[in-house]
Amino acid sequence: MNEFVQKNLNYLSDFFFPGNCPVCEKAPYKDGLSYMCLECEDLLPWIYKNGCKYCGIPMSGFDFDGLICAACREDPPRFLKGRCLFLLDQNGKKVIHEIKYHGVKDVLKDLPRWLRRIPSYQEFLKDSVLIPVPLHTKRLTKRGFNQSVWIANALKKEMGESVLVSEALSRVRNTPTQTKFNMRQRKNNVKNAFALKAKNGLEHKDRIVLIDDVYTTGATLDACAKVLIDEGFQNVYVATLGHG
Ligand SMILES: [Zn+2]
Ligand SMILES: [Zn+2]
Repeated sequence: MNEFVQKNLNYLSDFFFPGNCPVCEKAPYKDGLSYMCLECEDLLPWIYKNGCKYCGIPMSGFDFDGLICAACREDPPRFLKGRCLFLLDQNGKKVIHEIKYHGVKDVLKDLPRWLRRIPSYQEFLKDSVLIPVPLHTKRLTKRGFNQSVWIANALKKEMGESVLVSEALSRVRNTPTQTKFNMRQRKNNVKNAFALKAKNGLEHKDRIVLIDDVYTTGATLDACAKVLIDEGFQNVYVATLGHG
């Protein structure tokens, strides 16, 4: 490629995808128009196979639906099923951090390719209403965005007509971040933290998929599921990008 063309491609790439690959931190020019370089994307621990029915964690050696991991068996969540795209190893964490803590929405421009890698994840989301896990207004004002809303909208953009996004839940208690808590503390922390908005546009027969950036213990997602189930919704599922 001649230098002039390369320079202009770099300029274009900079214009559309400012910032470097969140994993290797190099400029991702060599792969054209992607945010994370394709080499780094290949190295992410993608979850291709069916994993735990609830949290989606891969269960080595098995490839059929309905298995439940030890953590979920000990404390079964209320939602029916869950799926994740990749595990949060060092690289997976960098991808999530880029979105959540650096506020880089552009990472999600790569999401269509992530979905093409895992057709079963797409299948899982089909014909559903995606409800992002809400932030409390105070937290939202401080952060300026809710990454779960970004993710739900990016999924909708790729899935088209087959899914809807509804910000039907609100966070009525401004709870401290879950990061330093164990499972029991996490559960207490998010107890009664969520509510269903009066005008939510949902119907009881809807297949609902709660959307969050990561699945850790599932406590937050389960607290959201509880609100919906208590309100008479029966088809409540969860999906996240990362697991760990
Ligand atoms: Zn890279
Ligand atoms: Zn599990």
